[in-house]
Amino acid sequence: MNASRIDHLAPVRNGVLLLLAALTPALILADETAPARDPKQAVNEGYTAKIKKYTTAPVFTSPLVDYLPASKNVPTPEAVLGDISGAPGILPYAEDVYKYMRMLEKATPRVRVFSIGTTEEGREMIAVAVSSEENLKHLEENRARLGKLADPRSIKLDDAEADKLVAQSIPVYYITGTIHSPETGAPTALMELAYRLAVDESPYIREIRDGVITLITPVVEVDGRDRMVDVYRWHLAHPKDFYPPLIYWGKYVAHDNNRDAMGVTLKLTENVLNTYVGWKAQVLHDLHESVPYLYDNTAGDGPFNAWVDPILTDEWEMIGWRNVADMTKFGMPGVFTHGVFDTWSPGYLMFIAALHNGISRLYETFGNGGADTQERTLEPQEYSRTWWRQNPPFPKTLWSQRDNNNYEQTGLLTSLHYFNENKRLFLKNFYLKSKRSISKPGEEGPAAYVLPADDPRLELQTELLQVLQKQHVEISRASTAFTIALPAKKRKKAKKEGGKDGQDKGKEEEAEPASREFPAGSIIIRMDQPYSRIADALLDHQYWSPDDPQKTPYDDTGWTFGELFNVKVFRITDRKVLDAAMERMNQVQPAGSVQGEGNVFAINNSAEPALATLRYKLRDASIEAAEEPFESAGKKFNRGTFIFRNVARADFEDAATEKGLRAVALGSAPSVKTHPVRAARVALVHTWLSTQTEGWWRLALDNLKIPYEYISTQTVAKLDDLNSKYDVILFPPVGYNASSTAIISGTPTAWGNPLPWKNTPQTPNLGRNDSTDDMRPGLGWEGVAHLQSFVAKGGVLLTATDTSRFALSIGLADSVSVGASQKMNIVGSVVGTRVVDGTSPIVYGYDEKLAAFCDNGPILALSSIAGARGFRRLGGHSTTRPTGRGTADDPDFTVGRPGAEAPEEPTAELWEYPPVSDEQKRNGMRVIPPANRARVILRYADNKDLLISGLVEGGDEIAQHPAVLDAPSGRGHVILFSINPVYRGETRGTYALVLNTILNFDNLDAGRRLTEK
Ligand SMILES: [Zn+2]
Repeated sequence: MNASRIDHLAPVRNGVLLLLAALTPALILADETAPARDPKQAVNEGYTAKIKKYTTAPVFTSPLVDYLPASKNVPTPEAVLGDISGAPGILPYAEDVYKYMRMLEKATPRVRVFSIGTTEEGREMIAVAVSSEENLKHLEENRARLGKLADPRSIKLDDAEADKLVAQSIPVYYITGTIHSPETGAPTALMELAYRLAVDESPYIREIRDGVITLITPVVEVDGRDRMVDVYRWHLAHPKDFYPPLIYWGKYVAHDNNRDAMGVTLKLTENVLNTYVGWKAQVLHDLHESVPYLYDNTAGDGPFNAWVDPILTDEWEMIGWRNVADMTKFGMPGVFTHGVFDTWSPGYLMFIAALHNGISRLYETFGNGGADTQERTLEPQEYSRTWWRQNPPFPKTLWSQRDNNNYEQTGLLTSLHYFNENKRLFLKNFYLKSKRSISKPGEEGPAAYVLPADDPRLELQTELLQVLQKQHVEISRASTAFTIALPAKKRKKAKKEGGKDGQDKGKEEEAEPASREFPAGSIIIRMDQPYSRIADALLDHQYWSPDDPQKTPYDDTGWTFGELFNVKVFRITDRKVLDAAMERMNQVQPAGSVQGEGNVFAINNSAEPALATLRYKLRDASIEAAEEPFESAGKKFNRGTFIFRNVARADFEDAATEKGLRAVALGSAPSVKTHPVRAARVALVHTWLSTQTEGWWRLALDNLKIPYEYISTQTVAKLDDLNSKYDVILFPPVGYNASSTAIISGTPTAWGNPLPWKNTPQTPNLGRNDSTDDMRPGLGWEGVAHLQSFVAKGGVLLTATDTSRFALSIGLADSVSVGASQKMNIVGSVVGTRVVDGTSPIVYGYDEKLAAFCDNGPILALSSIAGARGFRRLGGHSTTRPTGRGTADDPDFTVGRPGAEAPEEPTAELWEYPPVSDEQKRNGMRVIPPANRARVILRYADNKDLLISGLVEGGDEIAQHPAVLDAPSGRGHVILFSINPVYRGETRGTYALVLNTILNFDNLDAGRRLTEK
């Protein structure tokens, strides 16, 4: 621990050296402007008096924000708020924030407002540029200069030319507010900040205005902001009541909207990313609230993301520590950096900048989740003094939204000022980071990633390329075939372990160096491009050492996109790949086709999600799934291949090619056993505890155009006959490891008041996804009975992670139990799985090996005896002989009688059922007959193959255990997932496990063989 902490000081020193080396003598000698008002500029006395009134202690403000300069023409935030920024009781809707920003734009040539897109619910997002009139007049010329620094190929990587551009350019500092909706302070802080930057004539502010373009998106999660304001207004109208927690933020996800910067599945991510890249900004600074009073996690804890340029990690330290120093000098307590946040995952919004050659920054300030002024009591770990928090917050304090706004604005103004004073350094760094991204093939490598044209999953490949394209990565297509040497991959000796795979252990495994021919049409992601780092970070593998001093990873540890999309990706270090004949692709489009003639069409099943889309789109077509592989028209088709009849070729062709599927027309239907693929009626169940984790499932189904009814556990409790409405009920993870008790009980109702989530005139933004008079009741025992009856009568219930635990706890699978983990630590990792029963429709289209997302299980274990609990490997039989004569493998020996040979005990793998002993069969009422046992579809790989990306510690506890099970129950099925197959738009390779379940809901037993062990 100590060693790591000391390591963190090193970059600070390096940063300072770098700074000194890069500054011109003139800049070193220049006095820094002290923050002070312009005595010639009048103060807005009324506004200033209110700042003082709403600030709860003199130390919670600074000379930068303890007054407001007056202006004759420019309106203050009071014009729309009716009070000042940060006033108690006032939380504006996004619309009011925009209204104010547009009033500023009208009143002063120093402000311009740009529309940057819309949200999932159609609300507008904006970016507000504040700078000098001169700078805003020449935005385009400046953008062109910054564009050359952002893509140094345009100046032939000429450093002298870059220096000229650096000297002429105005940098762009992009600030984003309230992505997290209960963190409410940023919009009013940013309204006032825009006013100050436009109006204040003090030298300190003027320098920022003249030297920097400050770009502000005051509300990132606009849908969530409006809901939060509704909830807050409800609270003001019912001051004595508990108020409803913000169950929905955006349309789909809550807090995870700040984990989308890899997959870019949400509009807010796409809009901010396009704005950041489009403006060629140097900084993306995202505002959050949680920690007292200002935690600048720009300089976080380790491990740092391994793909960012070390120039950036120096910048983090320089800016972060300087920010702390500046605010500490103002006497503001509780400002610190470093902290506990590791900087590994690139999923955060701010990381858009980190992996697009800019500077990522993030503040956590202290908020009250609304605009009430409240007494706040801190935990010891929050107010203790540490080496990185020498001036900690107070244990107890009265805290107001104005205090929060003071901290946010002071932090931003000092940052902007420091950034401006050193802007030549930062602009040069921006250029150097871009240049070093382009030089990647000749430096650390790799040279390129190649996605072969003969991948059986071209639709998923296209989806992966579309993610890269959203990330502004350049994509090329090989115009001819090419051959490239692939390096041999060394593998360390694996420890001896049990099981079939344990046979050939102990040898050094070293693959022969190989070369591979990639066909024409293969995709080449060149690493000699400005945004090579984001492509590299997404496509590469991650390794988090179990010995890392950081024991509490802040977020996921692995994410390798090729693995999670089930798409082949080759990391190529041989620079010859860059000489292959290729063309840049402007737009990645799905390229489907229908070959051949005939009225029957076949689409090979490769577990591509779009197949499910087709089932729902071609409502009248008859679709059958082949239960075995077959050959027809000279082609080989996998088990699960879709055979279409009763559909006009034109309709079929439109639907299939639009989705990038490749179909073959056949003269006649093949003679292979099939079953119908029907459009199941699907319900997706959510709780009123948390909706985020299921939100990713909704997003996936909506994108795939799979219709479903969205119902809550309360609705399940009310519906007596679920079977009359649904064939399949999806119960995705609740999240935060929800307990079965919480799912059933909900929030306590024995005290307190009802918590409505409804669309009313007072709360016009609530109740869009779902509504209730009272969020508190859970599934209840009625709901449990309804789910049990649904399955008993033939319904299919699909659960994952915590809802799988729940399904087991209500007795829906006799033969499966949940094991307790002793030392397992798999934190959002990519792990290996293996198909156990390839005849199950759930794995139609999959190969034997599949990568999946795992976050500590649960560990599912099989039992042949009903009511048996536990975890076979932890207890159990002794397999060694007793102490006695002879050698270890001799039989035991008893003096005075002939020896008795013990019968050989049958054994089973962890994904097989433990053999039933003769003793268990005696009056064996609890012995589960094979037909009543869950069918193991997918299991976790052996321990040595478990880790694909991220952290796997104590993996032997889950290795080889079932990962997906199909448990028969009554006439129906419960499909239990230990992995989460639908997560953050990153796991598209495992979507088909869910979709296959839906499409084969009435034929899940296809291919099932019952073997008595
Ligand atoms: Zn936050």
